[in-house]
Amino acid sequence: MYICYIDESGTADVPGTSSHFVLAGLSIPIEHWRDADREISQVLAKYGLENDELHTAWMTRKYLEQSKITGFAGMDWAARRAACQKERTRHLLALQKAQKAKAYRQAKKNYRHSEAYIHLTLDERLAALSAVADAVASWGSARLFAECIDKTHFDPVRTGRAVDEQALEQVVSRYQQFLSSTEKNGTGTGKPLGLLVHDNNESVAKKHTELMRHFHSKGTLWTTIDNIIETPLFVDSSLTRMVQIADLCSYALRRFVENGETDLFKKVFTRADSVKGKTVSIRHFAGYTCQCAICVSHR
Ligand SMILES: [Zn+2]
Repeated sequence: MYICYIDESGTADVPGTSSHFVLAGLSIPIEHWRDADREISQVLAKYGLENDELHTAWMTRKYLEQSKITGFAGMDWAARRAACQKERTRHLLALQKAQKAKAYRQAKKNYRHSEAYIHLTLDERLAALSAVADAVASWGSARLFAECIDKTHFDPVRTGRAVDEQALEQVVSRYQQFLSSTEKNGTGTGKPLGLLVHDNNESVAKKHTELMRHFHSKGTLWTTIDNIIETPLFVDSSLTRMVQIADLCSYALRRFVENGETDLFKKVFTRADSVKGKTVSIRHFAGYTCQCAICVSHR
C-alpha cells in the first residue's frame, strides 16, 4: 500500500499571480512512513523546527526586520527571536499610528506565517530546506508525480478541463500507472493499492472529490483507475508533515520551471519515476520547444 501526498504551488487561475501551476504528489510505501517521518523530524530538530510547520514559501522569504538588527547572525536563537519580535512590534505600532490599515493587516499576516522561523537567518532556513530535500532524495522507494502547467500554453477549450483539473487527472493517471507497473513487476503478494492525501482547501476539496469519483467510474483520458482507492483524504497541512514535504516538492518544481532555480529541484527530481531512461511521472506542459531538464528527460 502506498500513500501519495498531494500539494500545489502557484495559482490555477488564468492569468493569476504565477505563470505556472504545479500539482505534485509524493508517494511512499506505508511501511516506510514512520522512518521517513522520523528522519524529517531529526533534520528539523537541528534548526529548532521539529514541532513547527514546514512551509517552504514562507521560509524562503527575506525578513526585512532581521537585516535591521545589528549582529543578528551572531546571536543565539532566543536573542534573535526576542530582537526580531521587538522589531516587528515596533513596525506594527508605527503602521497603526500612521493609520495604514491595509499595510498593518498584511504585515500582521506575514509575521504570523513566518513566526516559527525568525530565529534562523535566511541562509539557515535555506539550509534546512536543502537538508529536507536531501532526505527526500535518499528515499529509494519514494516517487514524485507532478504536472507543471505553463498557463500561457494552456487552452481549456482544447483540453476540455480547467488548469487544476488537468493537473489532477495527470497526477492520478501517472500514479495509477506506477501502481499497476509495480503490480506487474512486483514479487509481493496482493494488489498494490494507493491512496491520495491532499491539503484541505474547501474550494478544491469538493471539486477534486467529484473528479476522482468520475475517474473511478469512467477512468481518466489515459487509464482506468484500478489501484487507487477512495476519493482523496483531506487533511490539515499545518499538522501533516508529509503534505508539507509535498509542498516543498511542488514549490521546487515551480521555481525551477519559472525561474530556473535548481537547488531544491535537482534533489527532489531524483525521485521521479522513469521507464527505460525516460521520466514518466513528471511533465512540464509547455509546448514542444522547451529544453528544460524535465522536458528533455520526458522525451
Ligand atoms: Zn520544460
